[in-house]
Amino acid sequence: MTAAPSPSAPGHSGPQLPVPRQLVVLSGKGGTGKTSVVAALATLASNKVLADCDVDAPDLHLLLDPRRVQSEPFVSGKEARIVPERCSACGDCMDNCRFDAIGMTRLDSGRSVYVVDPVACEGCGMCARVCTSGAVELQDAERGEWFVSDTRHGPLVHARLNIGGENSGKLVTLVRNKAQELAQEINAGLVLVDGPPGIGCPVIASVTGADLVLAVTEPTVSGAHDLLRAADLVTGFGIPLAVCINKVDLNPDMAAIIRGVCAERDFPVVGELSYDTAVVRAQVEGKSIVEHGGGVADQIRDLWKTVESLLAKVEE
Ligand code: SF4
Ligand code: SF4
Repeated sequence: MTAAPSPSAPGHSGPQLPVPRQLVVLSGKGGTGKTSVVAALATLASNKVLADCDVDAPDLHLLLDPRRVQSEPFVSGKEARIVPERCSACGDCMDNCRFDAIGMTRLDSGRSVYVVDPVACEGCGMCARVCTSGAVELQDAERGEWFVSDTRHGPLVHARLNIGGENSGKLVTLVRNKAQELAQEINAGLVLVDGPPGIGCPVIASVTGADLVLAVTEPTVSGAHDLLRAADLVTGFGIPLAVCINKVDLNPDMAAIIRGVCAERDFPVVGELSYDTAVVRAQVEGKSIVEHGGGVADQIRDLWKTVESLLAKVEE
């Protein structure tokens, strides 16, 4: 797919279009049902671009059946490569590599040369500095791929990090930026982001500059703990946070504790979703729970209305 010029790009002569809002759905940890909630919101929200920022374990595509229209490499940092023809097998590079990324191998000719393990290589360049034969080249490191796909609920920007590939924070930023650019190109009003689990660098990359974060939690001790960790991170960046308690009826006492904590911290609880076996059936069918139907679908509709009203207030 050839990207059209962004309406907001420098030199664009047309009227300035409104900046799309960014809603990021997070969970302090995996397994809270975050992606099912995102897929349901994707069914309900109109005129949006979807972004799967869970680049280490992307699974939104499993529910959206995307058709790829653009694939691009994700290049980040450098990695060393040894040119066998120039290598004299002196071993200096291996002795100086702090990351144990260099080993020796024997060519078919019987000659020994040194090789770089691209997964272990950190791209520090030390081997290139010590090699007096000029046998080491530092090249751009391809760490994964990012994609734009069409889905039945609108365009999806997503990515895949190579095994052992690092810089998932950078890839998350790239996915978000591409989704934002695409939303501006097609005049979409919303970027709906499926964020990564946890509170690490990829999460920070997924929330900075967002208009609203929806934290999906579950009524367990670890759910409450992880919610607070994620909340501290999000509010530390000055981003409004709303909370959805998933499977709320599985532990009413813990749900009450989470409501109390949210009230203390002024986090609106915008949705409480019942445990519903139809969610799993929907996943098996590759559908969102709203498409599949079930008692919890109506609760998610109510959740979306409330989130929409919060986003509208952000716009004011
Ligand atoms: S320092 Fe250069 S010549 Fe020596 S083993 Fe490494 S790559 Fe080969
Ligand atoms: S660039 Fe650094 S980490 Fe990579 S092989 Fe060379 S010395 Fe090792």
